Amino acid sequence: MALGEGRDRHRELIPLAALIGREMRSEKMEKPSVRYGYAAQSRKGEDYFLAKMDCLRVPGNGSSSFCAFAIFDGHNGSKAAIYTRENLLNHVLNAIPRGLGREDWLQALPRALVAGFVKTDKEFQSRGETSGTTVTFVIIDGWTVTVASVGDSRCILDSRGGGLSILTVDHRLEENVEERERVTASGGEVGRLSIVGGVEIGPLRCWPGGLCLSRSIGDMDVGEFIVPVPYVKQVKLSNAGGRLIIASDGIWDAISSEMAAKSCRGLPAELASKQVVKEALRSRGLKDDTTCIVVDIIPPDNSLPPSPPPKKQSKLRSLIFRKRSHDSASKLAKKLSAVGIVEELFEEGSAMLADRLGNESSVGQSTSGLFTCAVCQVDLAPSEGISVHAGSIFSTSTKPWEGPFLCIDCRNKKDAMEGKRPSGVKVV
Ligand SMILES: [Zn+2]
Repeated sequence: MALGEGRDRHRELIPLAALIGREMRSEKMEKPSVRYGYAAQSRKGEDYFLAKMDCLRVPGNGSSSFCAFAIFDGHNGSKAAIYTRENLLNHVLNAIPRGLGREDWLQALPRALVAGFVKTDKEFQSRGETSGTTVTFVIIDGWTVTVASVGDSRCILDSRGGGLSILTVDHRLEENVEERERVTASGGEVGRLSIVGGVEIGPLRCWPGGLCLSRSIGDMDVGEFIVPVPYVKQVKLSNAGGRLIIASDGIWDAISSEMAAKSCRGLPAELASKQVVKEALRSRGLKDDTTCIVVDIIPPDNSLPPSPPPKKQSKLRSLIFRKRSHDSASKLAKKLSAVGIVEELFEEGSAMLADRLGNESSVGQSTSGLFTCAVCQVDLAPSEGISVHAGSIFSTSTKPWEGPFLCIDCRNKKDAMEGKRPSGVKVV
């Protein structure tokens, strides 16, 4: 054997093995690193944020870490925003069954987010406070990003090598026809402020209360059809990573998603958040609280910030993710993941708890053998629980004997949110 041949073979084999090894590590084991930046300009002092890098799925196990980020844009005071920042994450985590592996935990997360949002709203309202808040809540576990939102604080994803997508839905009566119809069907009135002479001004609002949003946490002085049930979207990034921009309406009223993403490409997260706020103020001035968190999800062996994505895909993908239809969305997601872009794992925006809490009979049974309320997690005696499906006359699969179950309090809240009893009236 000539010396040259041996060297060639050597050169062929080693890099291949190294390549496979590297691929396996980055796909299966290595987590991306997460870096974030925060910037804000305050006018009313009602925007709050949360950034927690060190949450654990399994207490005491450092390898089960995940991150949580959120923006709370309060109105009529800041108590709802502060209360939600302090309690929502715990309520969500407590709604996930114990002892789940990572994949099952991520799968249980969308339902737990719904339970946690509703529980936080119920608890806050019981304190008799009238303020309210939007919530955009983001959980990042490895390459999987889960976003739950009520109101109009938005989260966008600028995926590396992919393009731009919006991971939230704006719950504004002015723009969201579906929500307008839901509120009206549940007994709310939608209209503008009218001044003398019948002239209508301002955005569409919901009456009683006059809120421009159709979903929020708090707001006990508006109708209960202003619900805390979040829109939830879960996506898995390709291992090229990406950037999240989470911001309150002070940003989005001033600049588009495309402008926000474009304005900060190439900058590290800390500078990027400042740049987005600066861009918004430049175009509109400081009209409202303006808050921005930029989160970079960075592949393990790469410390560079996301590079600009190819321009051609950018427009296309922002349209794809705005699509409502489940069928077309899942078909497209498959196509996208096949070419190594973002995979959509879950999307649901229904305001009906029966749609959101699932229907497995095992859900809600605690280890003690008792049933627990799917929303507030209190233990229920066998005779106490009311199925989330009971009495839902519009449901085609009514299974009143199957779980998950609700306590009487949460059942009353569910009925009020669906307009089945006048809001604010307690059923004894
Ligand atoms: Zn309950």
